[in-house]
Amino acid sequence: ADEGTTRRRVLLKLSGEAFAGGGGLGVDPDVVHAIAREIATVVRGGTEVAVVIGGGNFFRGAELQQRGMDRARSDYMGMLGTVMNSLALQDFLNKEGIETRVQTAITMGQVAEPYLPLRAVRHLEKGRVVIFGAGMGMPYFSTDTTAVQRALEIHAEVLLMGKNGVDGVYDSDPRTNPDAVKFDALEYSEVIARDLKVADLTAITLCKDNNLPIRVFELLREGNIARAVRNEKIGTLIST
Ligand code: UDP
Repeated sequence: ADEGTTRRRVLLKLSGEAFAGGGGLGVDPDVVHAIAREIATVVRGGTEVAVVIGGGNFFRGAELQQRGMDRARSDYMGMLGTVMNSLALQDFLNKEGIETRVQTAITMGQVAEPYLPLRAVRHLEKGRVVIFGAGMGMPYFSTDTTAVQRALEIHAEVLLMGKNGVDGVYDSDPRTNPDAVKFDALEYSEVIARDLKVADLTAITLCKDNNLPIRVFELLREGNIARAVRNEKIGTLIST
């Protein structure tokens, strides 16, 4: 309904995989630089931006578990990976002249503030970008669920979910099925009933219970973060 209205406060969830660029592992500074430029533009436009970044370019707990590691310890490795992504983004945002704070759910005083939601909100109000690292600090959760929880706690209007290499939600995987059909809009209950691979069920259920809209879009297409912030009809909008 409020299409075309610029959002005031958003939670941006960035794909960790995208941070790796073509390399697959680690961080590609060119990619992070490009993302930072786009975030800087929307911040200068007056939108308050909080960020959660995935960790798939370093470790996924479930994958390490399949290779014999203890799940909880693997998950902590996954969370630490998200901190490296957070520091990389902070660096490029600073270079764009945007003040940025990283807050982590696992305390590490030398590199980041602890997660303090009220302080995070004050940073946002001052025009600083706040990046939430280390997920929720709890094994068995995902950064998607973290993004929803943080969005709710800081009262973001929408969760903007930037994906790597896919421009929205499809009825099947567009990378393997050429006949896959994209949805422009979906209800939470459809995502759950059709088991669509947007985010894990914990994250979707939390959105549904609290009525937090999600826009899923292609992260690395130039200008897309600004389009999503302006609430343009890109990707897929998931709501009630
Ligand atoms: N993780 C966790 N708890 C959290 C957030 C993340 O245990 O609150 C771990 C989990 O092992 C996950 C990894 O961190 O696989 C990387 O996070 P992400 O959600 O990005 O995984 P991906 O979506 O890339 O599979």
